Amino acid sequence: MSDPSSGDWDVHVIEFARSRQQRMAGLIHGAPFDEVHDLPFSFVLARRADKVVLCDTGFMREGSGEAIAIKFDVPYWISPLRMLAEMGVAPEDVTDIVLSHAHFDHMGSIGRFPKARLHIQKREILSWHEAIALPPAFGFLTEIINPDDLRHAFDAAVEHRLNLVDGDVDDLLPGLHVRLGEGHTMGQQFIILDTARGSLVVSGDCVYSSRNICGHNHSGMYVPLTNAIGAAWDQLKTIDRINKAIKGDLDRLIILHDAERWKGRPVVKEIDGFRIVQAS
Ligand SMILES: [Zn+2]
Repeated sequence: MSDPSSGDWDVHVIEFARSRQQRMAGLIHGAPFDEVHDLPFSFVLARRADKVVLCDTGFMREGSGEAIAIKFDVPYWISPLRMLAEMGVAPEDVTDIVLSHAHFDHMGSIGRFPKARLHIQKREILSWHEAIALPPAFGFLTEIINPDDLRHAFDAAVEHRLNLVDGDVDDLLPGLHVRLGEGHTMGQQFIILDTARGSLVVSGDCVYSSRNICGHNHSGMYVPLTNAIGAAWDQLKTIDRINKAIKGDLDRLIILHDAERWKGRPVVKEIDGFRIVQAS
């Protein structure tokens, strides 16, 4: 375990929801048709010195957040705020939120962190504003978007708490780096954290499974997503960038929807069946 008062990030993965009988073939190309999982949903808590950072925030099951959770059949849920309280973190303690992308399950509770500075790729926010303004016939693009989340991001902009990141940035915060990873969405980013056990990568939804990197049956051929609005071409280039960032070591990769629930990493707490896992 790393010491948050040192120069390294102390990193935990916090599970807060699971979908029901999610068909893997609907997420990654070439998965067996009958492979289903109660797929976990998670975000990351990273602490270092005076910084309390979330990589994504999960979502709240209320109002439009409840409606979209029902639409995508995510029946198993615990409040992300409750899970953070288990780690001694109150909402006002959170200094920064680095958002991988704008899907409801990744930024659905940003309105609950009144002091946090939000960091999201400029292209991610602007592309959704463009997509959501298109005629209803283009609704496929924005199916996983909750417009209220974009409203909350706009509120943060008015309060000068929204940082629109433009591409790759080293040391966005000391020892925290972001990389543009388009494919799943147009302005997705993945996050690199320097920790006592080396650099860790938070995947966002650039990958759903180690198979995206290793290939089916460890073929070595990258596997694109079926759940994406960007091109397979861009996705594979992003997967390659992640593979290089982890130097081929999958133990360095935090997959937010990891069907194996971060196997091999120590479980720090388990609350109502939802895990908090030490990643650093
Ligand atoms: Zn997503």
